[in-house]
Amino acid sequence: MKVKYSIRTSEILFERAQESIPGGVNSPVRAFKSVGGTPVFFERAEGAYLYDVDGNRYIDLIASWGPMILGHSHPTVVEAVARQVSVATSFGAPTRLEIEMAELMKEMVPGLEMVRMVNSGTEACMSALRLARGYTGKNKFIKFNGCYHGHADSFLVKAGSGVATFDIQNVPGVTGGTAQDTLTAPYNDIEAVKRLIDQNPGDIAAIIVEPVAGNMGCVPPQNDFLKKLRTLCDLYGIILIFDEVMTGFRLAPGGAQQRLGIQADLVTFGKVIGGGLPVGAFGGKRDIMKAIAPLGNVYQAGTLSGNPLAMTAGYATLSILNQHSEIYSELDHKTELLEKKLSEALSANGWTFVANRLGSMLSFHFDVDQVTNFEQASKANLNTFKKFFHHMLSRGVYLPPSAFESYFLSNALSNADIEYIADMAYEFKNIG
Ligand SMILES: *Cc1c(COP(=O)(O)O)cnc(C)c1O
Repeated sequence: MKVKYSIRTSEILFERAQESIPGGVNSPVRAFKSVGGTPVFFERAEGAYLYDVDGNRYIDLIASWGPMILGHSHPTVVEAVARQVSVATSFGAPTRLEIEMAELMKEMVPGLEMVRMVNSGTEACMSALRLARGYTGKNKFIKFNGCYHGHADSFLVKAGSGVATFDIQNVPGVTGGTAQDTLTAPYNDIEAVKRLIDQNPGDIAAIIVEPVAGNMGCVPPQNDFLKKLRTLCDLYGIILIFDEVMTGFRLAPGGAQQRLGIQADLVTFGKVIGGGLPVGAFGGKRDIMKAIAPLGNVYQAGTLSGNPLAMTAGYATLSILNQHSEIYSELDHKTELLEKKLSEALSANGWTFVANRLGSMLSFHFDVDQVTNFEQASKANLNTFKKFFHHMLSRGVYLPPSAFESYFLSNALSNADIEYIADMAYEFKNIG
C-alpha cells in the first residue's frame, strides 16, 4: 500500500479538462492549485470509499464537502431516487414531496416555522440576506473573516474556503458599492461586533455567522460568542442568520442551533439537506418568512427549486438521520477517535499542530498554538499541510485539498478505516 498510486488517467483527463473548463474544474478548490499536483478524477463511490478513474481506492474524508453523511450510495437513498426518476424529474409546479420535506425539516430543526427550498447553499445565504434587508429596511450586515457563505457578491469580502485558499484579497467583479455594505469582524470577537454596531447606528440589517466555522478549517465558537451575538441582535433589532449549510443536520438533527442551544432568526441550509443532489434551503420565523414573494415583495424564485429528484434524495437522507439519531453519537465517536489517533501519530513524529473539533467537523493546523479565528488560521504552516496532504493521498486517504477546509466524516467510515488512516500518518516523518 505504500507505493504511490498511478493516476495516469487522471493526468490525461486533467489536461483535456483544462481545454474546455476554466482550470479544469467546476469549483476552484477541486483543482489542487494550493496543494499542487494533479486533481484525482473519480468514477464511483460506495460507503466510505472513492474509486478514481485509474481504479485506485481512497478513504473519503470529505464526503462531497458534507452531503454524503450516510456514506456514498446509501441503498435507501439510491432506491428512492431511482423510483422517483421513473415517475417524474421536474414539473415547475407544486408537489406533495415539498410539503413533506418542509414538515420533516420543521420537525427536526428547533424554531423553524417556515422554509423555502433553493438549489444551493449560495442561493440560500443570498436569499436570506435579501430577506433580512427587505424585512428590516436596512442595508448593511456583519459577517466574520474566514466565514464562507457562498459566492454571492455581498459575501465575497474576507471570505473563507476557496477565497482564503487562493488568498484572494479583493474579488474582481464585486463592486465597491456592494462591498461597502459588508462589514467584517474577526470570528469570536464580540467587542469588534459592538464597535461595528456603534459605528453604524440603525444601519445593520443582519449578522450572518457560521455557528461552528468550517471554512477556515474547523473553528468552534468560544466564550459564549453566539449567545452574545443573540443578545446584541435582540438589543438592536438585527436579524441573526445562522449559516448552517455545513453544520445543519450534521452536528445534531437540529444542527448547531440544537447542539449549542442558541436560536437564530433565519437559518440557511445546503450540503446534507440534499443527500448528494443540489439542494439548499432557508427558513426561520414565520413573521420574517412571510415577507417573501408571493406573500410579500421580497422576490425570490427558482425554476428547479423543490425539484422532485432533489427532494427525494434529501427527504430520504433526513428521514434516516431523524429515525436513527444514534448516527450522531457514532459519528462523534469516530471523529473523536480519528482526532486522537491522528494527533498521536503526528506528535510521535515531532510535528506541532492544533487539532480543532466539534462533533464530526475536524481540522489540523500545523505550527500554530491556537486557532480561534481566521487571523490565527492563516498563520499555519501551509507547506507542511501540502506535504501531509500528498503523503496521505498517495496512500489512499482523500483529505480536503486545502488547509482552510474541515474534514467531513461519513458514518460509513469503520474503525478499521480510522486505524489505517492513523497507520499512514505514522509514516509521515518530520525530517527537518
Ligand atoms: C458550502 C457552504 C456554502 C455554499 O454552499 P454551495 O452549495 O457551495 O453554494 C455556504 N455556507 C457555508 C457555511 C458552506 O459551508
